Amino acid sequence: MKKEKRNCSFCGRTEQEAGILIAGLHGHICDVCVMQAKDIVTQEATYSSDQKQGFLEVESPREIKKHLDDYVIGQDQAKKVLSVAVYNHYKRLGQPKLSGQFEDVEIEKSNILMVGETGTGKTLLAKTIAKKLNVPFAIVDATVLTEAGYVGEDVEGILTKLLQAADYNVEQAQRGIIFIDEIDKIARKGDNPSITRDVSGEGVQQALLKILEGTVVNVPPQGGRKHPDQKYIQVDTKDILFIAGGAFAGIEKNIANRLNTNAIGFKNENNEKINEDGLLQYVNAMDLRSFGLIPELLGRLPLVTHLDPLTKEALRAILTQPKNSLIKQYEKLFSIDGIELKIDEEVYALLVDKTMELKLGARGLRALAEKIFTEVMFDIDQLPQQFTITKQHFEKFLNNKEFQDIKRAS
Ligand code: ADP
Repeated sequence: MKKEKRNCSFCGRTEQEAGILIAGLHGHICDVCVMQAKDIVTQEATYSSDQKQGFLEVESPREIKKHLDDYVIGQDQAKKVLSVAVYNHYKRLGQPKLSGQFEDVEIEKSNILMVGETGTGKTLLAKTIAKKLNVPFAIVDATVLTEAGYVGEDVEGILTKLLQAADYNVEQAQRGIIFIDEIDKIARKGDNPSITRDVSGEGVQQALLKILEGTVVNVPPQGGRKHPDQKYIQVDTKDILFIAGGAFAGIEKNIANRLNTNAIGFKNENNEKINEDGLLQYVNAMDLRSFGLIPELLGRLPLVTHLDPLTKEALRAILTQPKNSLIKQYEKLFSIDGIELKIDEEVYALLVDKTMELKLGARGLRALAEKIFTEVMFDIDQLPQQFTITKQHFEKFLNNKEFQDIKRAS
């Protein structure tokens, strides 16, 4: 009996031409077509997940704040401002154009400026929100930015970082969040021209204006001027949310000067006396302007909020309460080695006290804890199944040179 000639039902290749021919119920498929089909399926899957991400499911501001509460201790005011701003921002992006009464009303983007001491949770807040919304997130340090033509990173480099965070998916990068840290360091510091470094900071502020507001930028994919041959990627910044943060050390003086219209003590608008320690809560654009941010930049960062300095109670809570608190992380590390970790309450109290001395905010907690845990973990293979860290472990560390070094550096 003559053998039936078989072909790929998709491309027509014969059995001889195709390497492999897979039989189906009513036809055949060759290896080349299988590979092509696989590529198409993969592309489709990526595309539809991108599409899904394009329409973010934005929960209510209250839900966003609740999520922040799981990770960030205190800072209620900043959490509220951020939750509402982020809610409005992403809601606006996901909504179809309204017709009728609001047709011509364009909701402007509300970038945010957070003022608060170092280590009080500014970066953590921005990062936690971005993660919740599943949008690309990049942190840039304003101190390395310079006006084009000076030594340092061009402002466009900010977007390179976001593109990288988005795996070069431009669509996604365009709805990401950028956290600009240390924005206070580019405050105007008077006239002090330099040919290599824009020391005054004002040039950088100027350079940031367009990007913050929304413009199409040619972004070098690798960043910097070291790769002159690279092709640029165009990124539209109009839907990128910018959150700027800074310590603005000494801004209380500017706030006090503004509030102190009547000579005795500080009073707020209701004529209530204000405690000097809590002045930061009154911070506004005027104070930031007298600190050295130019009005145009402030206009593009319309939401100003503050973070409170961390109290002892807050530091204590930060150690154990957040979902991925420092202590929970250590407990997990120990449990991987089959050890149940316990920590004496006295150790927490000491950690908090010493952290207050360092004046690094919650950052000090990690710096100190890491030293103690490194000592203990070095002997992890010798530890019993239940192990308690006591005051003695801590005191040993306090007397050693490393602690004195950390203290001196802070
Ligand atoms: P900054 O205000 O300088 O941006 P970060 O957000 O980077 O401070 O905080 C440094 C670290 O300290 C964070 O990784 C976090 O672990 C911890 N931290 C700071 N503030 C808080 C807070 N309010 N709640 C929980 N953890 C905090």
